[in-house]
Amino acid sequence: MKALVYEGARKVSVQDVPDARIERPTDVLVRITATNICGSDLHMYEGRTDFETGRVFGHENLGEVVEVGDGVDKVQVGERVVLPFNISCGFCKNCERGLTNYCLTTQPEPQMAGAAYGFAYMGPWQGGQAEMLRVPYGDHNCLRLGEDAAEKENDYVMLADIFPTGYHATEMAGVVPGDSVVVYGGGPVGLMAALSATIKGAAKVMVVDRHPDRLRLAEEIGAIAIDDSKTDPVQFVLDQTMGLGADRGCECVGFQAHDPQGTEHPEMTLNNLVKSVRFTGGIGSVGVYVPQDPGGPDEMAQQGAVAFDYGLHWFKGQTMGSGQCPVKKYNRRLRDLVAAGKATPSWIVSHELPLAQAPEAYEHFDNRDDGWTKVVLKPAMAG
Ligand SMILES: [Zn+2]
Ligand SMILES: [Zn+2]
Repeated sequence: MKALVYEGARKVSVQDVPDARIERPTDVLVRITATNICGSDLHMYEGRTDFETGRVFGHENLGEVVEVGDGVDKVQVGERVVLPFNISCGFCKNCERGLTNYCLTTQPEPQMAGAAYGFAYMGPWQGGQAEMLRVPYGDHNCLRLGEDAAEKENDYVMLADIFPTGYHATEMAGVVPGDSVVVYGGGPVGLMAALSATIKGAAKVMVVDRHPDRLRLAEEIGAIAIDDSKTDPVQFVLDQTMGLGADRGCECVGFQAHDPQGTEHPEMTLNNLVKSVRFTGGIGSVGVYVPQDPGGPDEMAQQGAVAFDYGLHWFKGQTMGSGQCPVKKYNRRLRDLVAAGKATPSWIVSHELPLAQAPEAYEHFDNRDDGWTKVVLKPAMAG
């Protein structure tokens, strides 16, 4: 089968690789019809992780079931399914508590927890930027879609990661109706956090970024766009909230946070959140941070340490939740919002491309080229 293979920093190519296949009775085999390029793929693409050359990217996957193992009871051949990026078992200590983001079964490293398709530090699993994908524990990991699966494919594929992840940021921040919310980062996840805050009835949603295409998308759903290359975002938020700060904040940037001139400051958005969220407010941090960053800007960053302004955070009595999203906690409910026409996360999609064009798509998305806000790869589309 064809798949997008990582060959080293900023080098990917479409190659023939061994076919994905059923390896255990609980596996499901999916023919991928939509698979997104994610901002978190870019950390790996840029060579900033230990992602092995020869492996396949792709953790935001949707497709049609073409084969099921003998031990699969629910999922049937022919069904359209969307797969959480987390690969989980459903029966370990963490999965039992709903924390499928920290599954202990699918992550082979004893000191680690959590697994994903085609992701650094997240187990050996191949990614779905390919024609076929093996889904372990298929009954547990497949979310089945209805008759509108093909028609709303670009909406449903967002359930694999970014829509639940944005929603999770607002959950950890504690967003309730009437809140003011500031989202740092207007990439796909930040835009989904803004959409989620809007769905939850936030009174005011503000999105901080500096790319005009992203800021326009934020405005399309009624958020206030803040261009941090032109204005101090902290002061802007304080001015919008009678000097008190926003009730809730979301971190949707991650460890490669950088100033408008391009210099990286891993602590920048976290500290801006501490300053722009009110006393006793909540922060949800879903941007990716890593335990080691060998390519980081200084020795501290290389060790995964961040100069977080804990003093002010403590003094203000803020709470903060962190980490990857347990997609299964939300994907069914968010699917039903899409089915009912109450959420249209595909509004951020700028490109639908065949797998053959994935290498150039990575280049454009990585450059943050204007108009490349979200790419959906369609492996069945003629290249
Ligand atoms: Zn993703
Ligand atoms: Zn588990």
